Amino acid sequence: MARLVLKFGGTSVADVPRIQNVARLVKREVDAGNEVAVVVSAMSGETNKLVGWCREIAILHDAREYDTVVAAGEQVTAGLLALALQEIGVNARSWLGWQIPLATDDTHASARIEHIDTREIVARFAQGQVAVIAGFQGLGSDRRITTLGRGGSDTSAVALAAAMKAERCDIYTDVDGVYTTDPRIVDKARKLDKITYEEMLEMASSGAKVLQIRSVEMAMKHRVRVQVLSSFTAAPGTLVVDEDEIVEQELVSGIAYSRDEAKITLVKVADRPGVAAGLFGPLADANINVDMIVQNVSEDGSSTDITFTVARADLERAQKLLEDKRDAIAYREMRFDPKVAKISVIGVGMRSHAGVAARMFQALSEKGINIQVISTSEIKISVLIAADYTELAVRALHTAYGLDAA
Ligand code: ASP
Ligand code: MG
Repeated sequence: MARLVLKFGGTSVADVPRIQNVARLVKREVDAGNEVAVVVSAMSGETNKLVGWCREIAILHDAREYDTVVAAGEQVTAGLLALALQEIGVNARSWLGWQIPLATDDTHASARIEHIDTREIVARFAQGQVAVIAGFQGLGSDRRITTLGRGGSDTSAVALAAAMKAERCDIYTDVDGVYTTDPRIVDKARKLDKITYEEMLEMASSGAKVLQIRSVEMAMKHRVRVQVLSSFTAAPGTLVVDEDEIVEQELVSGIAYSRDEAKITLVKVADRPGVAAGLFGPLADANINVDMIVQNVSEDGSSTDITFTVARADLERAQKLLEDKRDAIAYREMRFDPKVAKISVIGVGMRSHAGVAARMFQALSEKGINIQVISTSEIKISVLIAADYTELAVRALHTAYGLDAA
């Protein structure tokens, strides 16, 4: 007997037959003697529709009312799944965020979970009851409904698993696991049996869209064992676990890419203390996240070029802000390029091995791909290239690190 949290994403609950399919999956775990809490997303497309309606009425809408609207999708699925379970003889009830309660701060539309009281739910496990929980939503410190940011039901599930000390959190989605890279680009991509929290976090922040980034941070912090698997096949998925659960660690575990970047270059910026602070401080204040940064040595000792990347969605705001600050920052010219992609090679194995970066640069040069910016962390190397070469680069790197399926 184990305590499990099962989470089902939008495609797994997209219509009534799929919800009935989920009910059968849940019943199987209950019949095996497990205590089960289920977290559900809205039916696929629902949240987008609700967000669309808010925008239609007001582009700059009151985030509290936005949360009231968009949280509704999960309420529907939780009720429907509880009904479907009851229909096949499983004792089940639905729980909304405020009923648990799942307490958050009052940062509407991207609230952070502060505390979850799981006592009532756990007490009902003893009576054989399954808890069907609406993901993505909570109760704010202002006593109003909050949501956790797009994709947030992954975070609901992991947080609940941590709070009720579940053995595992199974995230059912439309892919059957975490792959060495996007199988839509590389047909020789392989499903990984296991991946470390650190790698999963880097994959998620480098563009892989399997899990919400915050859910991985939360899993890593509370050491929640997470399994990513499909609700449409019976196959075991990928386990996201601690490093010491992985016996044979590969040098590189995956290649991720992101086309959501844009590059900005400031030409001839004064080369003196305080310039970077004067540039990146205001961007941070405007909540614009800067990712990669390079600064050239100055040729004449007085001025330099600074290149950096921001999310493409923030490009316009960043440009406007830098134009406004042109005199204060004192640059000669601003250039920008929205057609770039970030390609990342990720693996905890690179901590203890030399030559991992060199192999990346070699593979890209053999394909004639120019590298614009490079950044590294302990377990990741990222390069910025022209977006047109994304597929070519990902395929070349997948082969270069020996990741291709036989
Ligand atoms: N329904 C929400 C969304 O589409 C939350 C989730 O699915 O995780 O973002
Ligand atoms: Mg999702």
